Amino acid sequence: MVNFSEETKEKMRHSAHRGKNHHKWKGDKVNVDGLHQWISRYKQKLDKCEICGSLQDKNGKTGLELSNITGNYERNINDFQWAHHSCHVNYDIENGLWGNSHIDYKKRRCLMSP
Ligand SMILES: [Zn+2]
Repeated sequence: MVNFSEETKEKMRHSAHRGKNHHKWKGDKVNVDGLHQWISRYKQKLDKCEICGSLQDKNGKTGLELSNITGNYERNINDFQWAHHSCHVNYDIENGLWGNSHIDYKKRRCLMSP
């Protein structure tokens, strides 16, 4: 599990609102929570994480959440993958999606599947 300090989380929250795609996204009027609901309805639920390919992540966690692949948040099930939370966070950071995202850290947690 990646344990971000409160300071780091605060920085992430701020960067989330400064993302260069933020205004573009606003114009699209896409409700992200609604989008995730739509994706989870139509995208086949998997047991394995599509990022690390395992049932459990390195911390033994099995819960999967929807991770956007390109960061464009299109209504396209092929643009989403099921991933462990830890893999999701690493993926977003490695691909530079974190700063462009309009979803803050708290909201991401809400998107985790039961
Ligand atoms: Zn994983």
